[in-house]
Amino acid sequence: MQLASRQVHLDFHTSEEIPGIAADFDAQAFAQTVRDAAINSMTVFARCHHGWLYYPSEQFPERVHPHLVNRNLLLEQVRALHAVGVRAPVYITVQWDYHSATTRPEWLIRKPGGAHEGPPFTEPGFYQSLCVNTGYYDFLAAQTAEVCAMLGDELDGIFFDIVGIRPCMCASCRAEMKARGIDMANEAAVRAFAKASIDRFKARMTALVRQYSPDGTIFYNAGHVGPCTRDSRDSYTHFELESLPSGSWGYLHFPVTARYARTLGLDCIGMTGKFHTEWGDFHSLKNQAALEFECFRMLSYGFAASVGDQLEPGGTLNPATYQLIGHVYRQMQEREAWARPSRALVEAALVTPEVLTHEHLVPESIFGAAQLLEELAIQFDIVDLEADLDLYPLVILPDDLVVTDAYQAKLDAYVQSGGHIIACARGGLNAAKCYPASFGTAYQGQETLWPSFVLPRGAMANGLIADNAYVIYLQGELIAPTDGEVLLTRQEPYFARAGSHFCS
Ligand SMILES: [Zn+2]
Repeated sequence: MQLASRQVHLDFHTSEEIPGIAADFDAQAFAQTVRDAAINSMTVFARCHHGWLYYPSEQFPERVHPHLVNRNLLLEQVRALHAVGVRAPVYITVQWDYHSATTRPEWLIRKPGGAHEGPPFTEPGFYQSLCVNTGYYDFLAAQTAEVCAMLGDELDGIFFDIVGIRPCMCASCRAEMKARGIDMANEAAVRAFAKASIDRFKARMTALVRQYSPDGTIFYNAGHVGPCTRDSRDSYTHFELESLPSGSWGYLHFPVTARYARTLGLDCIGMTGKFHTEWGDFHSLKNQAALEFECFRMLSYGFAASVGDQLEPGGTLNPATYQLIGHVYRQMQEREAWARPSRALVEAALVTPEVLTHEHLVPESIFGAAQLLEELAIQFDIVDLEADLDLYPLVILPDDLVVTDAYQAKLDAYVQSGGHIIACARGGLNAAKCYPASFGTAYQGQETLWPSFVLPRGAMANGLIADNAYVIYLQGELIAPTDGEVLLTRQEPYFARAGSHFCS
């Protein structure tokens, strides 16, 4: 499946404290604004984080936004967009739904002490998470089915939002963990159950959507695509890489998730926002150079682009936002045939230590290595431990990639068949603190005297001054060669800076 290349994700999380919802919506003007900005897909809202619906629900009339003036907003948006050749996948929230969180406490995710997950209800925000192992699932499935049935052939796809691995001790989860013999005092076991639960949820929802839509797009958003996503890959039609550089993700996140996601074999789309920082505000505009950088960077990976926006409560699009997006998307439109579809030709694989049960624990070692390799213009993928190393002439193991004996055997076999490895610090060590046999190196533990100094010579002195002692500020790992050639030596300081031992 190849995605529409220039998308907008049109948030519409709209409080019940605001009157006149969609009162100013003009379907024709809406679609014209979208088309004029060279947008070819726009994600529109069925149910938002406040828990409100934007269509005339028969099953859940109490859930329709109480001030929704145009009760056919969703359907009119979809039809108006289709009329100008723009796709219109539909957004449904999953783990954040303020209406449910405040009216159905038995659906809330529970911490071990019984408290709900997320901030207190006295604070503004809809971040109290819901558990899909409760009766909430039945509501969510019925509401999703209702949207699918209502749109019928006009349904282009579903974007399920906030679908993360969230350990839960609610009554439903505890009952199932007990039945499965899971030790609930074991945090890792509870987290593994949470991952299995959310993966099962995705499979069920995909099967449900498929009853109505044989080929619509389906995506589950957790704010990151990484090794945590691999097990549930078959529930997705593509990956949307939410990564707003000016928000909590930062500029380094997108390359890391992009270089991993593209190894999973589905089309990808980068997702940024028009916002000055991140989601959920009105009338902030990113500068054009920033949006160009972000969208063209997505295209450079061969990906489609998505820009997040938020529809005003009255239902009108802000013209300035669509001028900005249009300036960038028209440039993309002229160039995208060169980049999509395409396949990345890579020279190296950077193996990530990211654990499968967390979405947001990307190690600093991966951000650092990715930045370094990008600056060197090395073409590389980020891969997990399942990846086939033989696809790559070079494999890079970052500082903290401690592996199993089985993976060490995989590394040795890779070297045996002509592969090359660059390993850093503990990269490649096993639990017994041994490197793979092919390294020809013995691990000696962390250095006790530092900062230490390196003395580059020969090829290692390229761009440096040969035999000059260069300081390395941080504590390093000591290794002793058992085979091969030493290219760089280390010099110790007089003493470690501690207690009365200091100088300057
Ligand atoms: Zn639960």
